[in-house]
Amino acid sequence: MKEDYYKILGLNKGASESEIKKAYRKSAIKYHPDKNPGDVKAEEKFKQAAEAYEVLGNKEKRSKYDQFGHAAFDGSGGFGAGGMNMDDIFSQFGDIFGSAFGGFGGFGGSTTRRSKGTNLRIKVSLTINEIAQGVSKKIKVKRKVQAPGLEYSTCRTCNGTGQVTKYTNTILGRMQSTSVCDNCSGTGKIVINKPSGSDSNGQILEEEMVDVKIPAGVEDGMQLRVSGKGNEPITDGVPGDLLILVNELEDENLKREGNNLHYELYISFSDAVLGISKEIDTVTGKVRIKLDAGIQSGKILRLRGKGLKSINSHGSGDLLVHVNVWTPKTLSKDQKSFFEQMQDDDHFKPSPDKTDKSFFEKVKDMFS
Ligand SMILES: [Zn+2]
Repeated sequence: MKEDYYKILGLNKGASESEIKKAYRKSAIKYHPDKNPGDVKAEEKFKQAAEAYEVLGNKEKRSKYDQFGHAAFDGSGGFGAGGMNMDDIFSQFGDIFGSAFGGFGGFGGSTTRRSKGTNLRIKVSLTINEIAQGVSKKIKVKRKVQAPGLEYSTCRTCNGTGQVTKYTNTILGRMQSTSVCDNCSGTGKIVINKPSGSDSNGQILEEEMVDVKIPAGVEDGMQLRVSGKGNEPITDGVPGDLLILVNELEDENLKREGNNLHYELYISFSDAVLGISKEIDTVTGKVRIKLDAGIQSGKILRLRGKGLKSINSHGSGDLLVHVNVWTPKTLSKDQKSFFEQMQDDDHFKPSPDKTDKSFFEKVKDMFS
């Protein structure tokens, strides 16, 4: 009786595509032959997982399997027990491990393996306005590329396969093990003509200007990927990626909180008492706001949609204007006597009512 494919990968019937991928990735790493040399059970599990993924990772095959079970593939020449050989399995890895593939030195099972160059990382500093609008940046990168005139020959130690098989005699008999070729570091090629000025791999550093489109709404610490703009591999293959790390510059006036922006507005006593209309800078241009006569210090005005665009959806955050009434620190003699008169006037005694929300109610309101 063949084991259920979902069970093999430890999944439920309703598993999503990404859950299936993840589960397979996990068992492929766990049972990989390089990690379990000579372990027949692990190899069997490795093959089973690959077979299960071959079916569940494919929409058409999966729906057939969901309807008919293993019977769906019997006699079709598809996957009998052990129907997949190791090379098939390893060639699946490209789309499972993606760019991480290059990082697994030991995953050298397939002769069709193409190498990938290493990634380059660069930090880009952005103002709040650039983040609000989205921006195109020209970024200067220094990439490792093959020097012109570089020539190779096929590695004789491994005949270009990048791996060598060793036989050792043990008390259990002759054991076979495969490892990465030391002579060519697994590339299958040896540099025979290295142009002057190139490094030990025959590469030189080349400066390139790369155009990078940064979408509106990015956040500090986010990483954008420009594929193919990293270092070239040492031999044939595809270049690595350019990874762009977003560094958000602090703004003097606007503080970010998710997609909302906070702005501290300072007004004078008289403006607070008499009311005023003020123009303030926002990331979407100037906006005129009206402050009613008798506005209290600490009041927060919410300007809907005047914050930052969300990177994941169509919406925008809000701009929250915090009203602060500015108290003068020094006064002339006349001014002093003017205020002294008010000190005794009952009309100026604070008497907050329910419309003057407490700080906590305001905070609650802001997050609702
Ligand atoms: Zn070699």
